[in-house]
Formats: sequence, structure tokens, C-alpha cells
Amino acid sequence: MAASKAAKIRLPPLPTIRDLIKLYQIRALRQLSQNFLLDERLTDKIVKAAGNIHNHYVCEVGPGPGGITRSIIKRCPKKLIVVEKDPRFLPTLELLQETCVNFVKMDIEIIDIRNYNFVDGFKGAPQHNWFEAPPPIHLIGNLPFSVSTNLIIRWLKAVSEKSSAWSFGRSSMTLTFQKEVAERMVAPLGHEQRCRLSLMCQFWCDVDYKFTIPGKAFLPKPDVDVGVVTLYPLKKPMVDLPFKMVEKVMRNIFNMRQKYSIRGAERLFPEKLREELGPQLFRLADLDYTIRPFQISNEEFGRLCYAYKVICENHPGLEDYDSRAPKQALSSSS
Ligand code: SAM
Repeated sequence: MAASKAAKIRLPPLPTIRDLIKLYQIRALRQLSQNFLLDERLTDKIVKAAGNIHNHYVCEVGPGPGGITRSIIKRCPKKLIVVEKDPRFLPTLELLQETCVNFVKMDIEIIDIRNYNFVDGFKGAPQHNWFEAPPPIHLIGNLPFSVSTNLIIRWLKAVSEKSSAWSFGRSSMTLTFQKEVAERMVAPLGHEQRCRLSLMCQFWCDVDYKFTIPGKAFLPKPDVDVGVVTLYPLKKPMVDLPFKMVEKVMRNIFNMRQKYSIRGAERLFPEKLREELGPQLFRLADLDYTIRPFQISNEEFGRLCYAYKVICENHPGLEDYDSRAPKQALSSSS
């Protein structure tokens, strides 16, 4: 606590974010879902939610005019990389870069975060064994909702593969989501919001819903409130199977949320095998197939994934079967 307090620095007087937006005539672009946070207490709170970042490596995703960026800089990271898609923010970000040049190394990348290479960006950062304490690396961002939901799935995949930012160890992520999505991410067993996303997040990460930001805090105001969530990758995932396989089991089972779980699960198999393999899946997982998807615990879902893997091993080609794709033939041995 004392260390992070001591680590805080005071920035020299700067124009407010509101003034900068006016000065550079930056109009929020609907197609990039730009909603800016102007209240410094809130941007400080988001950064505080990421934990101690003093002397650490931070990547801020979608800095926009730089509200959260200022709060990050005040906490004196060793290196800050900001990745922004919209080049109109370059001057405001360069202003911050010049301001902090003597105490924080700040890199500006004007690029879509989906094309950004974290391994290059964090070059030189300490690499921690997965089972050690997390590395001093944090991803922080207030992104458009459509991007953050898509990104979290990509990043969970990278966590599962220990690749990208997670090749350095269990790097944490503090991100904003539409409140309902954030609630889904943490939804426990039996919760009405429990869905595929809840399981995917909780299989690989400890998910912490930090706080809610009312929509009215943003400029322009979005239609919804926002949830701030921190994800800490688990030392041991709930299932140690390929991401794609787990995602497929979840997707099919949750496809029919209110029905018996076997209804969705059957769609993992071609029609002619459903009657046989559907019940077999639940037998192998030691689970009653009349259970509804949102009533299945993380551990039981894990067992279903392992059961699916066993069935796939006995039916070559099954793993590639997709009920949504045009008719596919399994190899003759199945
Ligand atoms: N962080 C700023 C704040 O809190 O005021 C801006 C938040 S605004 C909701 C989202 C920002 O992400 C915008 O600056 C937008 O241009 C940027 N952005 C949107 N899609 C992006 C992408 N794919 N890669 C990088 N930045 C993106």
C-alpha cells in the first residue's frame, strides 16, 4: 500500500480532456463506439482496480483522448504502450508522451489492437513461469463493447495457449464491458445470466467484477451502464483441453439454454449418431442429462468436455463436425 502511494506522481498542469477534445475538434465516432471518460476520479479508480502497476509494464487499449492514460502515468509504470485505432488521437497522446518523457517510457501504436503484437511490445519484460507469481504486466482498457467481448474470447484463447501477452506468465486484464456482459462473465451456478461466456471466463481466469460506472459518466452517454472487470489467469485451468474444443462443447450445450442439456449437447454429433452418443456423453461425465445448462457447475462442465474428448478419440473426424456447417461425412470407421 505504502509502495503504491509513494509511487504516485503529479503531472504538470495539462489542458483538461474536455478542452483537448474541443481543441482538436474530435467528434466521437459512432462506428468506433467512442464514449469518453472525463472524470479523473473514475479513470483513477479503473487503474487502481488493476492493482499495483508501479515500475510494471502496461498496455492500454483504446486510450482515445487519454483520460485513463493520465491515471496510468500518475502511477509510474516502467513502460506504457497505448494502442489506438483512431489516428485523430495522435496529437493528444503525443502531448502526454512529451509530458512523461522523464519518468515513463510511453510508446504510441496507431493500430487495431487485434493486429498488435504483445510479444514485441513487452520485449524486455521479465518472463515468469506460469506457476510463479504473475509477471509485472497488465492490460487495461475502456474499449467499445463489441470489441471488448470479441477481444476477451481471443485473449482467453491466448491465455489457454500461454501465448502472446501470456507467454510472459499470468498477465492480468482490467477491462470495461457493457454491465450485462460483465455480469455474465462472473455469473455463478444457477444465475439467470449464466452462459457460455461465464464458463469460458471462469475456466481460465479468476474473474472479479470491480465496480459499475453509470452511463451518464461518459461523453457521449451510451444507452447502458458499464462494468469494470479484472481477469487473473488461473494457475490451473478448470479444463486443460484445447480452447476450440471447450468452446464448441459450451456453444452447443448453451444453444438451448432453457431445455434439457442433452438437447444442445446432441448437436455435437451428426444426426445418425445423436441417439447413441448424446446419452453416452452424459454417462461418461456422470451427469443427469435432464439438467438445464445454467444448472451445471464449472466442474461438471469440465467433465462434459473431457467426456467429449474421449468420444472424439473413438470416432475419428468427429472433432471437426459442426452442426451449423453443410452436411459433412465422418470417416468410415465411425
Ligand atoms: N479510453 C478512452 C476513455 O476512456 O475515455 C476512450 C474510450 S472509447 C470507449 C474506445 C476507444 O477505443 C476509442 O478511442 C476508439 O477509437 C478505440 N478503439 C476502438 N476500436 C479499437 C481497436 N480495434 N483497436 C484499438 N483501439 C480501438
